[in-house]
Amino acid sequence: MLKLILISLSLVIITGCSSIAPKKVASSKVKKTTHKRFQSVSKEEAILLQKGKNREYCHICGMNLVKFYKTSHAAKENGVEHQYCSIHCLSKDIKDGAQLENPQVVDVSSLKFIPVTEAYYVVGSKKPATMSRVSKYAFKSLADAKAFQAQNGGKIVDFYSAWQIAKKDFK
Ligand SMILES: [Zn+2]
Repeated sequence: MLKLILISLSLVIITGCSSIAPKKVASSKVKKTTHKRFQSVSKEEAILLQKGKNREYCHICGMNLVKFYKTSHAAKENGVEHQYCSIHCLSKDIKDGAQLENPQVVDVSSLKFIPVTEAYYVVGSKKPATMSRVSKYAFKSLADAKAFQAQNGGKIVDFYSAWQIAKKDFK
């Protein structure tokens, strides 16, 4: 009986709150508490290839690589590994003249780095984009890319095409 009263009491509180609170506040509250950023993983899951005290941050924009892990890329410059939050920042580094070797990207399914030449990119899905308006997520398996596309839309392209699309951010 007490339980019942408590439940109905909390129902009153919940409905009372939502009708009083302005819509904006209510929706931002929901976002913070229930929706983790799609790109994020836990610290344990993230692979950081960079060295040094800034290893957790994008080489170009300084964003946190654990928070934007699923769109992370990496490449070597003069033997030194750099890691990026996204293909956007990788493209910016190339555009600014960096001579990069062995570009890699995170496979969204395994959360491991794979060579970009082996990746299938789903471009323009409804999942959030990193540093861009057009999202780009990479998969090692074409079947995984297709499953992601079936759920979230977008088109499947190779790295070169994804890079050309990323370059449009700078125009
Ligand atoms: Zn970045």
